[in-house]
Amino acid sequence: MEFLRTLGVDAQNIGSSTGSNWLESTGPSISSYSPVDGKLIGSVQTTDKAAYEAILKQAGAAFLEWRQWPAPRRGEIVRQVGEALRAQKENLGKLVSYEMGKSLQEGYGEVQEMIDICDFAVGLSRQLYGLTMHSERPGHRMYEQWHPLGIVGIISAFNFPVAVWSWNAALAWVCGDVCIWKASEKTPLCSIACQNIINEVFKKNNVPEGVSCIVNGGRDLGEWLSHDTRIPLISATGSTRMGKAVGAAVGARLGKSILELGGNNAIIITQDADLDMSLIGAVFGAVGTAGQRCTTTRRLIIHESVYETFKNKLVNAYKQLRIGNPLDQQNHVGPLIDKDAVQQYLNSIEACKKEGGNFVVEGGILEGEGYESGCYVKPCIAEAENHYQIVQHETFAPILYLLKYKTIDEAIALQNGVPQGLSSAIMTLNLREAEQFLSAAGSDCGIANVNIGTSGAEIGGAFGGEKETGGGRESGSDAWKAYMRRQTNTINYTTKLPLAQGIKFDL
Ligand code: NAD
Repeated sequence: MEFLRTLGVDAQNIGSSTGSNWLESTGPSISSYSPVDGKLIGSVQTTDKAAYEAILKQAGAAFLEWRQWPAPRRGEIVRQVGEALRAQKENLGKLVSYEMGKSLQEGYGEVQEMIDICDFAVGLSRQLYGLTMHSERPGHRMYEQWHPLGIVGIISAFNFPVAVWSWNAALAWVCGDVCIWKASEKTPLCSIACQNIINEVFKKNNVPEGVSCIVNGGRDLGEWLSHDTRIPLISATGSTRMGKAVGAAVGARLGKSILELGGNNAIIITQDADLDMSLIGAVFGAVGTAGQRCTTTRRLIIHESVYETFKNKLVNAYKQLRIGNPLDQQNHVGPLIDKDAVQQYLNSIEACKKEGGNFVVEGGILEGEGYESGCYVKPCIAEAENHYQIVQHETFAPILYLLKYKTIDEAIALQNGVPQGLSSAIMTLNLREAEQFLSAAGSDCGIANVNIGTSGAEIGGAFGGEKETGGGRESGSDAWKAYMRRQTNTINYTTKLPLAQGIKFDL
């Protein structure tokens, strides 16, 4: 496949890099099999302790230099990274689709997000503003400034194998930080391809070796990073289970963390909803990326008066879904990431049935021509209750639960009645209901939408969620502040030394 060659993703890859240097390691290899056709794409050598230490040393040295580059100059490098990504959009999008299994359109979309965040970061590089305050003391000036933090450890999940890294890296770089990225062990080749793309730009501009580093491996590499006191900030994206471990490790050493964890997202379909529009939002939200987005729609909370009508519309829509090779743009739904994920999907269906769930669209594994990888499953729909254990849990697969409500207060309580708090939505043309949903007494999620589904966020807003979703924010708005340290400065330009709060101290 031509795109693999162009991206420099060979059969055997070294998985540890400080930029242009690729470090040999004695770590075991990870083989990356495509969920699309079950074929081996390539393998990546994992990072051992010696390579890890060399990378930490190089990243530390690079930081001392990089933090002194003016931020707009760092922004210029990120602008060129965006240009390089534009040039490779098609190839990288294909790799994302082939290694992870999402549709080609979504693969391209992911690369577009990388480009967008680079553009955002370029502007940001001239807007790392601090405030000025009026001092209570005469002849004093007080202000705050934001300084680079140091090494940022990025731990990412398989489902957004490239975009999540760029959300972190583009901001961290303009903020003057250096990055060490540990990609998911399920999509290691994406990290090699990105490093190759960045490398060209960094070399051309004499960016210090170590500003962009990658390590590869499983949970143990993530643990090394989260326990490492040389890394002031860990940004970790993945399951709540992982986030609890990372949060505890980083917290124990009083480091900073950004945690972007699981979601259990719902759309409220009111009696005043545009049902045709709601249908598109609900189906895309539930089956897009085969239900493997953190913002996937997992629950529909439907008003009793439109429940039967909307359920029938959903059942009909699901009959039209085409499941198959995600690189074929005719298909709506691709495979799950691997056979473990398929097993979890089957277990969840069983658990739902045991708790009393009624499947109105049945699930199951697809077999036969085109489905040889064993990772293709049927998106399914169950009528369920919010209190079922399985409904309270995020299953990373296309299983949609239907819940019924009578009053808007009840719908909001159901929406909030799960441990996670990432994305939420209401479909309504009723202003009162929409505003109640967005009010302080409304949705408790980090993202709350009106007449838009739960998935498909733009990079301009801060992205993240509450409760077991971890509380972190990445990407737009003022999320950059997490990548810097704030310093308050007070300058006395008089000949006296008055103390704050009028305290007297004479010698
Ligand atoms: P995962 O938790 O299995 O793995 C994520 C990453 O964490 C991997 O790189 C893995 O090696 C590493 N890891 C695992 N255990 C660790 C530990 N104890 N210490 C340090 N690192 C560890 O998640 P996954 O299956 O790759 O991804 C799916 C999950 O990610 C879902 O729960 C999804 O909702 C979540 N997710 C959240 C967001 C968000 O922004 N909120 C975005 C994408 C995915």
